[in-house]
Amino acid sequence: MRHLQGIGAGTGLGVGPARFLALQLDPAERHIAENDVGAEIDRLDAAVESSDADMQRLSDHAGPTQNITRELVDAHRAILGSPELADSARTLIRRRRIGAEWAVRLVVEELRRAFSELHDERVRERFEDVESVAERLIKTLFAVQDPVIDSEFAHTIAIAEQLSPLEALELYNVGAAGFASEHGGPTSHTAIVARALGVPYAFGVHGVVNGVNPSDLVWVDGTTGEVVAEPDLATSRAFEARRAARIERERVEEAVRFEPSVTLDGTAVSLGANVESPDEVATAMESGVDHIGLVRTELCYANRRELPSEEEQLADACRILRAARGCPVTFRTFDISDDKLSRGLEFDSGPNPALGLRGIRLSLKAPALFSAQLRALYRAAAVGPLKILLPLVSTVEELRQCRAISAEVCRDLSRAGLAHDPKLPLGVMIETPSAALTADHLAAECDFLSVGTNDLIQYSLAADRKNEDLAALYQPLHPSILRALELIFSAARRAQRPVSLCGDMAGDPSFTALLLGLGLRSFSMPWRLVPSVKSAVRSTKLSSAVALVEAAMGLTSHEEVKKLVLSHKS
Ligand code: PEP
Ligand code: MG
Repeated sequence: MRHLQGIGAGTGLGVGPARFLALQLDPAERHIAENDVGAEIDRLDAAVESSDADMQRLSDHAGPTQNITRELVDAHRAILGSPELADSARTLIRRRRIGAEWAVRLVVEELRRAFSELHDERVRERFEDVESVAERLIKTLFAVQDPVIDSEFAHTIAIAEQLSPLEALELYNVGAAGFASEHGGPTSHTAIVARALGVPYAFGVHGVVNGVNPSDLVWVDGTTGEVVAEPDLATSRAFEARRAARIERERVEEAVRFEPSVTLDGTAVSLGANVESPDEVATAMESGVDHIGLVRTELCYANRRELPSEEEQLADACRILRAARGCPVTFRTFDISDDKLSRGLEFDSGPNPALGLRGIRLSLKAPALFSAQLRALYRAAAVGPLKILLPLVSTVEELRQCRAISAEVCRDLSRAGLAHDPKLPLGVMIETPSAALTADHLAAECDFLSVGTNDLIQYSLAADRKNEDLAALYQPLHPSILRALELIFSAARRAQRPVSLCGDMAGDPSFTALLLGLGLRSFSMPWRLVPSVKSAVRSTKLSSAVALVEAAMGLTSHEEVKKLVLSHKS
């Protein structure tokens, strides 16, 4: 028995014999003569064309996964046709007189360096798409058939160094029981696809390619990231039991999906979804949400170089509102840092980006960008109810400046005769200790609050949320956070302003009773977490949640609060 540990993409438990996808090809450095340059570029162009046609075929024959495949194929074809990939490879062939495969590999390595310098993991992981497009192109150049993903993969655990999202789709279509790969990331398209399809997938499983033999019996836990090859009887039984318990829990969650989100004593709780692209909204609505509580607009344009125009943003906002089918949507204005979407902007976030020019600070320094986004949002209001949310506000002056710019934007729209709604609610994200401590002042001057606990925890405990060495200091249940939440919720209540929570805390069902006891009635989270949080809401009695908060407030450490919260029963 071999036990390997990776990271779970989010769902399911699968078992089956291991079957390997072909390993990556490694083109050798090959030099060409000056008068072969033209022919080599023609070869590259033919390969680009053939890869493109290949992907199109895949999309045309996607069967039940048509929508998600089309979306991915469109994104991958855009990468294939982008100047960053093919043009750069052509330039290298011309300048350095090298073979096309080697040129593509060099371009990918250069892009890998550029992406690895980005701070935001979600944007960094978009490199996975570039890599899988380039891999396909290299295989075409070598005239190597893609590893045939056929019915031989049915009921198997597919193992790969790196799994592309299109391969994940093909494997799902032929009935694979799960996937495991050496590399990958939680917000990569492959992980998103696996979650959307409900296929168990563990990535970052170091040693899986060499540590597992073809046909070994393998268990993959898509939640914990465990991969066990050739399990002994006791381990197999434990996994079977785990799978049965999970299926039962999912059955209960599925049963409440379209039930109302109310506590045992009948208090209604609003559950929303956080989305990162217009395409995600329709799926989010299927999870039983009643609003879209956070559109991370900067991530809608993350994998591109140029900034979106007002018209493009307007079209995307309208698409989102239509997909939300009349439910309210909260659009957060660009939360740009030096990594997200910054390539179209000339700015330096400073020596410490987390404390530098980011979020609303950057929008206020880039008035053309900010105004274009506001214009698009005010204009989109005709399509459905929407609210505008300002990220990383730390002073009331920032809010006032935003109000003044919004008023100016609306005046311009009126002058231009463009339809818009000047009364859109303008809200503030509470993500910094200064905003939390002055939530009453902010609440008095804005229309609603939304608590971003991811940043609030980072800034309160002065622990970089991306620094793995500080993971132990990332403490959602630290007494400082509980006190901050109590302060924010009571400020909102006194000012009679709606307050929501859209950080990761909202999606953890073990925190639901505590947050309800603190007074929260509106949560927003990744859509796939909604059913489990709804289940938690429906089994919470408010009086018991309030008693839980009273007990928690008397404790002095994260560990103590966590123990109490995990042992709580309504
Ligand atoms: C947060 O900080 O909690 C939040 C929701 O914003 P983001 O995770 O995008 O920083
Ligand atoms: Mg934040």
